[in-house]
Amino acid sequence: MKVLKFGGTSVGNVENMRQVMKIVNDGEQKIVVLSAMAGTTNFLVELYELTKKRNEGFSVKHKIDVLKEQYIDVVENLYKTDVKKEAMRFVRNRFGKIYQAIDENPRDLEGYILAQGEILSTRLFTYLLKENNIDAECIPALEFMRIDMNGEPDRFFIKKTLGYYMERYPATIYVTQGYICRDFYGRITNLKRGGSDYTASIIGSRLRADNIQIWTDVDGFQNNDPRYVKKTQPISELSFEEAAELAYFGAKILHPQTVFPAQRRNIPVYLKNTLDPKAKGTRISSDVKANGVKAIAAKDGITAIKIKSERMLHSHGYLHKIFEVFSRHETPIDMITTSEVAVSLTIDNAKNLDKIVPELENFAKIEVDQEQSIVCLVGHEITKSNATYKLFGVLKDHTVRMISYGGSSNNISILVDTDKKVEVLNKLHKLVF
Ligand code: ADP
Ligand code: ASP
Ligand code: MG
Repeated sequence: MKVLKFGGTSVGNVENMRQVMKIVNDGEQKIVVLSAMAGTTNFLVELYELTKKRNEGFSVKHKIDVLKEQYIDVVENLYKTDVKKEAMRFVRNRFGKIYQAIDENPRDLEGYILAQGEILSTRLFTYLLKENNIDAECIPALEFMRIDMNGEPDRFFIKKTLGYYMERYPATIYVTQGYICRDFYGRITNLKRGGSDYTASIIGSRLRADNIQIWTDVDGFQNNDPRYVKKTQPISELSFEEAAELAYFGAKILHPQTVFPAQRRNIPVYLKNTLDPKAKGTRISSDVKANGVKAIAAKDGITAIKIKSERMLHSHGYLHKIFEVFSRHETPIDMITTSEVAVSLTIDNAKNLDKIVPELENFAKIEVDQEQSIVCLVGHEITKSNATYKLFGVLKDHTVRMISYGGSSNNISILVDTDKKVEVLNKLHKLVF
């Protein structure tokens, strides 16, 4: 069994959906996990925001109609047979249900609205397979994908229920929704933006798949962020650890948690380009040991906090006191550096910053810098390579707020102002590759 996940661009228009059909139609049994069509989830986020405002009834209705028209257009162009009628009925009915849900305003309205993109794309794709006489069934992720109280996949439940659906509706190709799931209380929620990759990995691990394939719009993992750096190169092999570091530090191609379920069962993950299936792509596995820098990545939205106090000198328990404040406000710390009388650290969730700062001010002087980015170099045993020396080449022209070295042998990170990020990424690219 294989699990293939196709992202938003891969199902983003009629031609690409047909291309996906070609890729999956090789007669082998598989699970196909789909994202929403490109743009839909963003649109649904806006729609939900609109429903929260009072007296916006008209614009909510207008917004839903705009999306509905887009999908009607897709149906018009995607099918050639009577399947079109059935698909059209499905789309109209779905949008009717969205109106109704907004009207009824259930507690999980946000989850419900955000789930619609994946529900639409999977059903439309399954109709397409059926129209082309391909043996397929669409199985509902909201029935088998569940997270527990800690937000972790409920592994036992997923395995059991997914197995039940696959047995009950036997097919060569099972199509299902990425991203969406239910929480511990049964409410509709999701695995966070970009979460379809994670869905594929969870399913792959539960079914002990031969491999997990993430199909997207680039030729695999690139050695730098292609949105900001020209002439990046695909990386043919990455270890699970390297891929996890890169995903965590901002490489958008993979949802940060994707690697772990696959790694637990030692299942290789392939990254492939839907628009160029012959391109080699990237293989992520446990048997990669090559040393040296593999890639550069950047993560935005970082806040740096400097905590300064003379009382720190020769005292113990000081770090504990600081960490306790962050812990109580459920705020994870990413980078950390210390000196005799100061600690600098970064967080990527500043939601509780206004509570944390006053508490820290009770015993220290605090400086906060927002709009920071972590830029990192990732590679197996990177700290033993000459990358470190090259990294310091950047410091000649740029002010770096923090450096993290030695926390992991796979990663060296620096913190820079976000408005300098693109420059730093390009400079590093030149120095390292
Ligand atoms: P999908 O909708 O298929 O999930 P995403 O937009 O989530 O696609 O991820 C693919 C995008 O990730 C690429 O188009 C690229 O712009 C971006 N990206 C960022 N860093 C990297 C990287 N190191 N390698 C490849 N792509 C990257
Ligand atoms: N559709 C969701 C998003 O846009 C999930 C995904 O694409 O993986 O975030
Ligand atoms: Mg994605």
